[in-house]
Amino acid sequence: MKVAFFGAEGKVGTALVPMLRRAGHDVRPIEAGEEPDVRGLHAAVDFTTPSAAPENVRAALEQGVSCIVGTTGWDAQPLDALARERGLRLFVAPNFSLGAVLMMRFAEQAAQFFPRAEIVELHGEAKKDAPSGTARATAVLLGGDVPVHSVRLPGLVAHQEVLFGGEGQLLTIRHDAYSRDAYVPGVLLALERLDTLPPGLTVGLDALLD
Ligand code: NAP
Repeated sequence: MKVAFFGAEGKVGTALVPMLRRAGHDVRPIEAGEEPDVRGLHAAVDFTTPSAAPENVRAALEQGVSCIVGTTGWDAQPLDALARERGLRLFVAPNFSLGAVLMMRFAEQAAQFFPRAEIVELHGEAKKDAPSGTARATAVLLGGDVPVHSVRLPGLVAHQEVLFGGEGQLLTIRHDAYSRDAYVPGVLLALERLDTLPPGLTVGLDALLD
């Protein structure tokens, strides 16, 4: 598939682009300041910044190209109408790690049987926000009123466990991401399933898993 990649030189882009090429995709990197010319390509992938992503996505949609977006911290809803109008897909996933999305899904299932849960999320010390977006989203899935504990230490990458306590037992559902390679299968899946999505905005990897 011929794919544009906005943010190819970034931390995520540097990990993803070689893997997408290895999987057989023809990737055209587009850097900051470059004309976002994506005409004729199958899809545009964006891992940039919250200020750059809306412009990149708008430019791609206006050129008739569907988008896959991992950039966090911006609202894609205003671009839903443009994507629908053009019959294009705008797929946005705040977390492209398949394992993390499955961890959240399994936790939601477990919560039906274990009403008492707490979340522990652990990340490297460079991560500024706490709790993480994934921990907050998991808490919402579990009904909102769930204590979240954040750990920031050197050596950690991105980890989360959901602990369910019951009489005489503890169920732990845990996911560990050790590198940005964790996002590769999710992005490949999004490329594979993009055309099966309805036109307009779809949010979350979960939508591709059934
Ligand atoms: P990063 O290292 O700062 O990389 C961002 C890259 O985008 C930089 O190379 C930057 O170039 C480039 N860029 C900025 N404006 C651009 C534009 N208009 N067109 C093309 N490229 C542009 O950040 P990162 O760690 O790779 O993360 C990127 C985004 O993905 C963040 O929003 C992060 O939160 C998100 N993320 C999402 C997931 C997920 O699973 N969904 C996972 C990890 C990260 P310059 O340095 O030259 O400005």
